[in-house]
Amino acid sequence: MNSNPTYEELELKIKLLEAELEIKKSLEKDMKVNNSFLKMLFNTIPNPMFYKDINGVYQHCNDAFSKIILGIPKEEIIGKTLYELPHVIPKKYADIYYEKDQVLFDKPGEQFYEGKVKCSDGLHRDYHFYKSTFVLDGEVLGLVGVMLDVSDYKKVLDDLDEKNKELSGLSITDCLTNLYNRRYFQEIFEKKISLLDRHKHHFSFALLDIDYFKDYNDCYGHHAGDIALKEVSKLLKETLHRPNDYVFRLGGEEFGVLFDVNNSNDAVSFIEDLRQKVESLKIKACNNTVSKYLTISVGLGNLKKVTKDIDSTLIYDEIDTLLYSSKENGRNQTISKDIVFE
Ligand code: GH3
Ligand code: MG
Ligand code: MG
Repeated sequence: MNSNPTYEELELKIKLLEAELEIKKSLEKDMKVNNSFLKMLFNTIPNPMFYKDINGVYQHCNDAFSKIILGIPKEEIIGKTLYELPHVIPKKYADIYYEKDQVLFDKPGEQFYEGKVKCSDGLHRDYHFYKSTFVLDGEVLGLVGVMLDVSDYKKVLDDLDEKNKELSGLSITDCLTNLYNRRYFQEIFEKKISLLDRHKHHFSFALLDIDYFKDYNDCYGHHAGDIALKEVSKLLKETLHRPNDYVFRLGGEEFGVLFDVNNSNDAVSFIEDLRQKVESLKIKACNNTVSKYLTISVGLGNLKKVTKDIDSTLIYDEIDTLLYSSKENGRNQTISKDIVFE
């Protein structure tokens, strides 16, 4: 049976309600403190950050994201999807981010990738994206993303890469002529030999040596000699310009040229043409008994049916002997031979 509460009972109830209210107020205060702390933290972090719901709608973002990335106030971002901000997110980028978001939603967890971003100052920068799905009670509610500007880091890496290329270029080139050096020749020559296909492929290698170059130096001086070496080198480089052509300075006034040809006749006419081109440079010679101009003698080997494991120095020596014969035979000429090692 219901009876009206007594005064004491009512007073007790009021006290309980007042206590409950106090707890509620204190919890609200805690929540407010936590919220503004998180907000402050979110905005103090210099990395751009955002939170999107499962439909890809921005629900939160920090100052860095609104200022550095999009360059518009947060109020204009919140409540929009990637495609509803075309003036600040170009479609080609929106497509990329959208696809990444879908991949993450399809397989909830974490995601990392690197991408280009058009920032509010109009510059395109490289960013690392760290993203995670936000899951509550087993349900995916959205995703958070944190971005890290790695443009400076990438630039340092690119510069290093450039320097490395420069260094490895230096270690394989000759500084006077800019042709490949003997060290690189050794590497390429061996590689070419190991790639020789017994039945089809063959290549040619010619040793070129300037005639009476000691006399040239003696007549015109070492500096003039250097200039002549550069001129000859330039001609060689210009003449051997196809992808599988190589020109090396193997020593003082001695060069090596390596090239692919269809047959020995083609190789001989190519090298003979080159020899005549050197003479046509019309570099005035000194004590050259065969021409008024600087000339070269050549030993040419057309490599055929060479087994892979043949010692490259054997082949080199054979071609060196051809060069020697061409000197002995009167200079300014080519002596060639098909080289077969089976
Ligand atoms: P050959 O016709 O038999 O080849 O006679 P050559 O005088 O050309 O040959 P030799 O080997 O007697 O002399 C080569 C000369 O090349 C000697 C050297 O002074 C010159 N030489 C080698 N390297 C350089 C260089 O870097 N610069 C200059 N200016 N001369 C060089
Ligand atoms: Mg010489
Ligand atoms: Mg020589």
